[in-house]
Amino acid sequence: EQEWERFTKDTPESGEHNARASKSLPLGVTSSFQHWDPYPISIERARGAYLYDVDGRRVLDMSMGFGAMLVGHLNPTVVERVQHALEEVGTLFVTPSPTATRVAERYQERFGLDMLRFTQSGTESTMYAIRTARAYTRRKAIIKIEGGYHGGYDGLCVSVKPDLADIGPAEAPVPQVPFDVEAGTVHVVPYNDLPYLEQMLAEHGDEVAAVVMEPVVENLAIVLPDEGYLAGVRAACDKAGSLLIFDEVKTGLTAGHGGAAQRMGVKPDLITLAKSIGGGLPLAAFGGTAEVMQCVVDGRMDHFGTYNGNPLVMAAAEAVDELCTEEALAGAEAINTASLDKIDGIIDRFELPAHTVGMGVKGCTTWATAPVRTYRDYKATDFAAAELSWLWGVNRGVLTPPGLDEQWLVSLAHTQEDMDSLVGHFEELAQALRS
Ligand code: PLP
Repeated sequence: EQEWERFTKDTPESGEHNARASKSLPLGVTSSFQHWDPYPISIERARGAYLYDVDGRRVLDMSMGFGAMLVGHLNPTVVERVQHALEEVGTLFVTPSPTATRVAERYQERFGLDMLRFTQSGTESTMYAIRTARAYTRRKAIIKIEGGYHGGYDGLCVSVKPDLADIGPAEAPVPQVPFDVEAGTVHVVPYNDLPYLEQMLAEHGDEVAAVVMEPVVENLAIVLPDEGYLAGVRAACDKAGSLLIFDEVKTGLTAGHGGAAQRMGVKPDLITLAKSIGGGLPLAAFGGTAEVMQCVVDGRMDHFGTYNGNPLVMAAAEAVDELCTEEALAGAEAINTASLDKIDGIIDRFELPAHTVGMGVKGCTTWATAPVRTYRDYKATDFAAAELSWLWGVNRGVLTPPGLDEQWLVSLAHTQEDMDSLVGHFEELAQALRS
C-alpha cells in the first residue's frame, strides 16, 4: 500500500498522460502488455541503459524493450546505419536488396539455419513457422506448452498463462481453444514432462505437424529445461514425424551468440527470431532446414509482407549483428552472472524464500524456494512478493519489465555499476522485508 502511494505521488504526469491516452487508446497503451494498474509510467526518451519519464525521472531500464534493446537505446552504430539508410539508401523498395541478403547470410552462420525469411514481428514469425510445418507435414495439429505465449496468432492463443482454475487437474492440461481455432488442432503439454509429450505424440502423432516451444521458457520469468529434456523432445518429434519449432523470439541473441538452440545443442527444424536481432526496429525472422524451407521455395507455403527485409530495418540488423560479437555478449553475461550471485548472496543472508535464475544476459528473481520446472510450479510462486519487488524498484528508479512473467536484461550498454544499483535496491528490500 505504502509503495503504491509512493508510486502515484512520484508519477503524477504519467497518471495524467495515461488518463489522456485512454481516451484514444484502449487502456492508454499500444499493446496490452504495456499496461499495469493504476497506470504505467510514460517514457519521453531513452539513451543507453536509461529511460527518461514524463515526470522528469531518470530510470534504469532493466526491461530494455522486453529484451529487444540488447545493444542499448540509441546505440551509436545502429543510429549511424539507420541514418545512412534514411539519407542515402531509402526505406522501402519491395525488391531484393544487398543488405537483406548479407543479414540472411550472417544468420545462416550464427543460428545454424539453412534458409530463412524476414518478417516484422514474433507473432508473424510463429504464424508462418506453423504454416510451414503444416505445409511440410501435410498435418494440421500442433502441440504447445502449457502456459506458453507465442504472440497474438490465433492458433497459438491457447493455454496462454491461464488461471489454474481453468486448466483442470494437474494431470490433464486442457487447452482453451479460441472460437476460430478448430477443436483438436491444438494440444497442450506441460514443459519439462517428456513422458507426457511422448504419450501425447503416441496418441495424436500422425496428426501433429509440429511441437512448438520456447527452448527456455522466458514468458514465465525464466524456466530452464531439465537435463536432457530438449534432446528428448527432439527424439520424440523425430519418432512421430512431427517438426520441432523453437520460438526464440525472447531467447535469440540474449541466450548467446547463436541463440538458445546452439547453446543447448539441440537443433530444431524451424526457429523463430525477433526482438534482440532488430536493435529496436521491427524485425523478426523464421527459418530452418533446407528440406523444410523448400516449402517456401516451391510454393507449398507462400510467405508475404510489404515491409519484409526493408533496407531501414536491415541496416539496424546488420549493425546489431556486428555489435553482438561473442566477446561483447560474454562481457554482458559476466556482469549478469556476477549480479545473480550477489542477489543469491542477499537471499541467503536474509533467508528469503526466493532464488535467482539466469540465461545468457537475462536474469530474474523467482519467489519460491524450489526450482520452477512447469507452468503450475510458476503459478505457485509468491506473486505478491514478486509484485512488491518490482514496485520497489520502479519507485527507486529501476524498471524491470511490467509483468511478473518477465526477466531483466543486461544490455551492451549496462555497466557493473548499473547492475550494482539493481542489487543495492534488492538488498534494501530484503532489509525492509526482514525488519
Ligand atoms: N513468441 C514469444 C516467445 C514472445 O515472447 C513474443 C512476444 O513477447 C512473441 C512470440 C510475439 O512477438 P511480437 O510481440 O514481436 O509479435
